[in-house]
Amino acid sequence: DASMHRGTLAHMQLEHDLRRAIAKTQDQAISGETEAPEFWLQYQPIVSLKTNRIMGFEALIRWNHPERGLISPADFIPLAEETGLIVPIGQWVLRQACYQLSVWHQLISSPCPLIVSVNLSSRQFVQPDLVNQISQILQETNLNPRYLKLEITESVVMENAEVATTMLQQLKSLGIQLAIDDFGTGYSSLSYLHRFPIDTLKIDRSFINRIDIDGENLEIVRTIVTLAWNLGMDIIAEGVETAKQLAQLKALKCEYAQGYFFARPLNCEAATALVLQGTIA
Ligand code: C2E
Ligand code: CA
Ligand code: CA
Ligand code: CA
Repeated sequence: DASMHRGTLAHMQLEHDLRRAIAKTQDQAISGETEAPEFWLQYQPIVSLKTNRIMGFEALIRWNHPERGLISPADFIPLAEETGLIVPIGQWVLRQACYQLSVWHQLISSPCPLIVSVNLSSRQFVQPDLVNQISQILQETNLNPRYLKLEITESVVMENAEVATTMLQQLKSLGIQLAIDDFGTGYSSLSYLHRFPIDTLKIDRSFINRIDIDGENLEIVRTIVTLAWNLGMDIIAEGVETAKQLAQLKALKCEYAQGYFFARPLNCEAATALVLQGTIA
């Protein structure tokens, strides 16, 4: 019917625009031209709750569409996954994030250098040459693998746990770090969790934003923190927005947090200022 037809057309138009934006971004990367980029990365700090130090940043893609303005990744990443366009986009994100981190490492000499965390989609995760691609990007950007962390959602690894285990082991053998994103929202199988070579669990925002309202959520977060501790994994609370949420996370001995309470995702210049500062006041 007519509304479905309009939906399909809008979909096709967006796919077309996405292809064009990727081609433009790739051309700009080759020519070194930086004028009016359509894609860029923002960086949201991840903070140690013990020391207030910034331990790293999550890289988040932004798209400035020439006619429609900013389009949220929540709106275009699913289309990019459906069409496979996430593969070139994801490669660009990885290269850009690794490059930026190596610039920051040169800027500061800290005994515990910053980490950059990059989201990996399901489509990227099943690419046969993913390990080679990442290894090449690490070489090109001269980045020590231990400072790159890949965020993979629970559902991506749980959908096919056997295949995922092999892939995660290959990724791990590069020396990079691995995180489970949005933990608690998928159909997580606790019996598998300990078999995955995972360094970090990121507790989904939906648990954190109700932690100060209902006791049940507090107990869920407490359980996840204990689970991570028992499995030797780090824990990051996502989406911390209030001082009260922060206080409760500290009481639960949660190690790291990320959220608007500390900082929104920042453009490169603002993130660089925080890198130089080292801590969040
Ligand atoms: P995500 O990986 O769970 O990223 C966290 C999202 O929560 C980000 O939204 C971030 O801006 C937002 N956020 C952070 N702190 C708070 C807070 O305190 N309150 C609230 N309400 N939100 C907060 P963003 O940047 O719009 O990204 C949305 C999703 O799009 C991401 O969710 C991720 O799944 C996907 N995405 C973003 N960049 C990339 C990318 O480069 N590659 C892939 N594959 N996916 C990406
Ligand atoms: Ca993420
Ligand atoms: Ca998340
Ligand atoms: Ca998410």
